[in-house]
Amino acid sequence: MTEREFRFQCRVWYLSQEASICNGCSRGCNMAVHFNTQRSYKADGRRVQRLKPRFNPLVNQWWMCDQGRFGYGFVDRDRIENPCLRMGGELQPRAWEEVLEEVATALRTTVEKFGPEGLGVIASPQQSNEELYLVRKLFQEQLGVAGIPFRNPWEDTGTEDGLLLRGDRNPNSRGAVDLGLQGDAERTLGDAAAGGVKVLYVFGHDFDSDRARELIRQAEYVVFQGANWNSTARMADAVLPGVTHMEKEGTFTNFEGRVQRFAQALPPLGESRPDLEILCDLAQRLGHALFYPEPEELFSEWRGRSYQDLGEFGEVLDSNGAGTG
Ligand code: SF4
Repeated sequence: MTEREFRFQCRVWYLSQEASICNGCSRGCNMAVHFNTQRSYKADGRRVQRLKPRFNPLVNQWWMCDQGRFGYGFVDRDRIENPCLRMGGELQPRAWEEVLEEVATALRTTVEKFGPEGLGVIASPQQSNEELYLVRKLFQEQLGVAGIPFRNPWEDTGTEDGLLLRGDRNPNSRGAVDLGLQGDAERTLGDAAAGGVKVLYVFGHDFDSDRARELIRQAEYVVFQGANWNSTARMADAVLPGVTHMEKEGTFTNFEGRVQRFAQALPPLGESRPDLEILCDLAQRLGHALFYPEPEELFSEWRGRSYQDLGEFGEVLDSNGAGTG
């Protein structure tokens, strides 16, 4: 049988494939991304043509749910392709250099004047372990921010199918918990609205609720870093285009604690850059020598293990990094 979304879009001999993990919920089904980057004028410019389940006896056997299998539109639609700054009330595309310098200056002057309490950071459970580790390292350990929440308090728990699909529609909430990230995002937004937090730095979240929008509207300066345009991005003062997980390498930890690798299938779209590059660049502008060209270096620093140690089916790691199966 052929899939309606795939039929007539691209001949199979033009497709390449790469091993990945579905980001549609906390199960972390293993999948293969089938893509074509040579003929992107076809299929409305879509590069991802289809997703296929990849066998993992410990997670998803040979299966994926339909939601995950057809939920790849975000990779090629509504992408933020340029860094932007708000100028004259409108977000305008600007050079990376200019946007990073403005954001670094905002962070530096805020910490100098108001201390780390002047910064509010909200990480995302769509980020990889390596990215969350670097967020913690830069904002918590180097700049002194006390707590970094990662959950969207307005996100509904989704339905479960009793087989694979989990209510938590994020791939890496467990990774964020294991990294010790915690806090209350609504309180952080409230502090930004009340003026205690001067710079609010949000990763990826679509805070698509009236209450959230009301709080963000009152914030002094909002930085958004993520791959897709959404309600938060449109309200930001500085927008840093990140990449989707299909355009970078890393690991997610599923709800059972299994750490699984995903490979890069596609090049970054437009001028978007992986979070690691953006954060290392920002860190250097702030005088912190963080330099991690490869995500595996962060993983090894965090868990004391190499990617190869995770094997084909991932590993449940205890707090010392030792595998437990
Ligand atoms: S169960 Fe979750 S991880 Fe698996 S395919 Fe569905 S959405 Fe993706």
